[in-house]
Amino acid sequence: MSDRCQNLQRKVSSLMRRGRKTFGGETFRRFKAFRLPLLALVFLSLFALSSQWQIIPPSKRVKTGLRVVKVIDGDTVVLSDGQTVRYIGVDTPEHGQPFYEAAKNFNRSLVQGKAVELEFDVERYDHYGRLLAYVFVRDKSGKRIFVNAEMVRNGFARIYTRPPNVKYADLLLKLQKEARANNRGLWSVYKPTRSPVIGNRRTMVFHRPNCPAVRRISPQNRVSFHNAEAALEKGFHPCRECQP
Ligand SMILES: [Zn+2]
Repeated sequence: MSDRCQNLQRKVSSLMRRGRKTFGGETFRRFKAFRLPLLALVFLSLFALSSQWQIIPPSKRVKTGLRVVKVIDGDTVVLSDGQTVRYIGVDTPEHGQPFYEAAKNFNRSLVQGKAVELEFDVERYDHYGRLLAYVFVRDKSGKRIFVNAEMVRNGFARIYTRPPNVKYADLLLKLQKEARANNRGLWSVYKPTRSPVIGNRRTMVFHRPNCPAVRRISPQNRVSFHNAEAALEKGFHPCRECQP
């Protein structure tokens, strides 16, 4: 950036020196009057461009060239560079919960040993320092597989929308509805409460009304549902503590 600016400055100065020789005094004086506004305009444009690059760096939104060397569970893997990746937008059963092993095995069947393409959203890391990514692999025929979506579509993951990382939230919700309608995987054993529940728009988690977490929801983020089904339909995720 600064190199480019210096180059530009040199070019403008040399142009002006040439202008002085070629056009004579009058033209140069006229040009000189525009010199500052012109320079300001050029610098502003460059600044606008560079700040845009910082917000959306296309080269940094996708990462390739790494392999999955270990599958931790249904939504977490370790890469060949040692980094741990947590899949964005989904949540798979914890150790000891139904479908924990099934989700882990399904994830392993998709990604173990494979080269992955990672796509990032707004936040690059979670508070455990894990890389947050949408993960893509190729199957034997070369078809591109969206792993996060496959986990949801087959009923091995619930969607877990955490703003601001919501790029594929609509797609994942659609796939979850499909999995629930067909009683796939964990949905075959899930018995949602028929009592009213309370959701948090900021975290997209819903709770039983007596859950301690409900007291911490600010009034503008609080949303009531007739039952858990209604909250799931809107893309909310059941609280792990009160399990509504
Ligand atoms: Zn709760």
